Amino acid sequence: MANDVNRQFKLKQRPTGRIGPEHFDFESNAVPEPGPGQALVRTLYLSLDPTNRIWMSDMDQYMPPVEIGEVMRGGGIGQVVKSNSPHYKEGAYVTGLTGWQDYVVTGEGAPAVLSVLPDGLPVDLPTMLGACGSTGLTAYFGLLDLCEPKEGDTVLVSAAAGAVGSVVGQIAKLKGCHVVGIAGGAEKCKLLTDEFGFDAAVDYKAADWEEQLIKATPNGIDCNFENVGGEIMEAVMRRMNLFSRMALCGMISGYNSEAPMRADFSPILMRRIRIQGFIVIDFMDRFGEGTMQLAQWVAEGKIKHRETVVEGLENAPTAVNMLFDGKNVGKLLVKVADPT
Ligand code: NDP
Repeated sequence: MANDVNRQFKLKQRPTGRIGPEHFDFESNAVPEPGPGQALVRTLYLSLDPTNRIWMSDMDQYMPPVEIGEVMRGGGIGQVVKSNSPHYKEGAYVTGLTGWQDYVVTGEGAPAVLSVLPDGLPVDLPTMLGACGSTGLTAYFGLLDLCEPKEGDTVLVSAAAGAVGSVVGQIAKLKGCHVVGIAGGAEKCKLLTDEFGFDAAVDYKAADWEEQLIKATPNGIDCNFENVGGEIMEAVMRRMNLFSRMALCGMISGYNSEAPMRADFSPILMRRIRIQGFIVIDFMDRFGEGTMQLAQWVAEGKIKHRETVVEGLENAPTAVNMLFDGKNVGKLLVKVADPT
């Protein structure tokens, strides 16, 4: 075993703004022993997600907040390194809420419920957390089930160069839509059109971003996949067509703020926009279908993906801010250990 301690980030205090190392205790504890029917898993990759910030707060949310003193919640991929369970074979890869720690026990009676990934994965481990993992699934179900894009529709996605947004845009292209992405900076906008195949990109950091948005959506917007909220969402809603659809996936522009996010509702009434908020776990019973389809598209080169990988568990609390500073392209991950 590579590490003889289990490094764990435990929540020390709730942030009021940005996340920092001061919000955690970084402890070195004994590696746990798996009991009967249990397995010990070594974390290999951690998925950093905007929702990490939500879980750290005690706002009304879709899961219980992380308690003070509890290991920081986080998705990840790990490898079984010791097993007392026929279900978890040594060497197998597992995925789920591994937490911000080197080791986690799963199996009978353990709080961490990790799913075994099949042998011979069609994609590498980072992609299993990104385009073929929960972020890809978020894009797949949010776009196809809630936005219901039809051929020729204009689909708009915000945070478009990120993990979810980049997949949303590419699925919409596969469905024959006119796809517009909003992202921060010329470089990310170029990536959207040149690499991910979007029809147009709007740089919300440019002074004329609202004019860019109008120009990029000459026929209005039929589907909005909303990742950002605030001013950007309001400008998009003003461009939405009669009986258009909006999947409210996230509102990252407000996560570091204590103030509630407000929005102008009048376009919803005047344009009869159908808005549905969702959390990817709402579609859990169809994850198999989504993963198979995403893996096929990735294998066929129809969906391109990027990952931004930060080395070292110790860097998780600072790396998570890359999501709020726009320093990631595609899926943001922390590499904790190499597989054996
Ligand atoms: P991303 O990989 O998209 O990273 C976040 C991106 O958001 C950044 O790269 C940045 O890109 C952009 N951003 C950050 N702050 C702002 C801001 N103030 N204004 C505009 N853009 C901003 O993260 P994910 O793909 O993991 O998540 C995207 C969204 O989807 C989030 O809102 C998240 O909460 C939500 N989500 C929801 C899920 C669900 O089940 N409902 C599941 C997964 C994610 P840029 O450089 O362009 O600013």
